[in-house]
Amino acid sequence: MPTRRRQMPRRIYPLRILGMGLGGMVAGVVLWERQASLYAWLAMVFPAFVWPHVAFLITRRSADPYRAETRNLLIDSAMAASFVPMMHFNLLPSVLLLTLTMVDKISTGIRLLWARSIPAMVAGGLLGAMLAGFHWAPDTSMRVIVACLPVMVLHTISVSVVSYRLIRKTAQQNQQLDELRRLDALTGLFGRGHWQEEAEAALRRHHTRGEPACMLLLDIDHFKHINDAHGHTVGDEVIRALAHVVRGNVRAGDCAGRYGGDEFAIILPGMQASAAMAIAQRIREQAEAVRLRKLPGLRITSSIGVAAADHRHSNLRAWIDAADSALYAAKNRGRNQVAWHAELELAPAV
Ligand code: GH3
Ligand code: MG
Repeated sequence: MPTRRRQMPRRIYPLRILGMGLGGMVAGVVLWERQASLYAWLAMVFPAFVWPHVAFLITRRSADPYRAETRNLLIDSAMAASFVPMMHFNLLPSVLLLTLTMVDKISTGIRLLWARSIPAMVAGGLLGAMLAGFHWAPDTSMRVIVACLPVMVLHTISVSVVSYRLIRKTAQQNQQLDELRRLDALTGLFGRGHWQEEAEAALRRHHTRGEPACMLLLDIDHFKHINDAHGHTVGDEVIRALAHVVRGNVRAGDCAGRYGGDEFAIILPGMQASAAMAIAQRIREQAEAVRLRKLPGLRITSSIGVAAADHRHSNLRAWIDAADSALYAAKNRGRNQVAWHAELELAPAV
């Protein structure tokens, strides 16, 4: 059972003590005004002051506390409605108690509990009429109005506090979900989707404002061999180690992502190609220096393609293709090196 469901009875207990107690106080003032019989007082005292504790005991002993508590909530509605004929339909407290008991049902978040509470309220009203008879005296005195104020104020505030907390929690959870969606689970770097959004934004800034930006595509050399020789767990460890190297070489405004299996993609906004090449070389050197604790003999190398954003890149695909062809050249030239896309254009075709 989810925690929220499990904690429901304990959460409701103090609220029920407060709600029924204050509701009972209102009914008490009406009973006192009309000098009700001892019988009517007893019929009011049980729901107002005894029932909350009985309800809690019932739930605690139940094999299915959630179900038992849902039933108790319906009994609450019936009891609140039974006050109405006992108060001789005194208008303000009758409407107030019926409204609040309905609000309570809605704010539990249990589907259609409010609708299920209507027959319970009708039954409670009939029971109250059987006990107190049917007397129509809707006028509300100032004394009763004043007695209504505490339940009105406290109930409204407590329902607002509960929904405030719920909204805050939902907002936090949405933020966490958003972060999880943006991050790659294995490396903690950005995932492909978010990386693409950032890359598109950098390319747009290049087109509109001429802001320079560079893209690095890094691919681990012979990674299949590492997987085959040492297993996927070691392979994963290598990917994480490379991600650590990448993260150590980017600034706060850069965007480093895992592009695919053993491939990483980095956007360096505001950076010229020469500086980006230096960073790529540093990453390549540090990758080469990585040693896994369990396999200190394992050497890891990587190839990196670098491409600066260019006015000829009409879309992100074109920019990625440029970096990819540089990466391909680095692989072709023997791996463990960095290649810059522009130098490919200058070099004669082979
Ligand atoms: P090259 O030097 O040409 O890049 O050769 P390579 O063996 O590295 O070839 P490639 O980059 O195509 O290999 C990628 C491999 O990465 C293929 C796939 O089995 C493996 N892989 C993809 N995702 C994961 C992962 O999350 N964990 C592990 N351990 N391996 C992965
Ligand atoms: Mg590879």
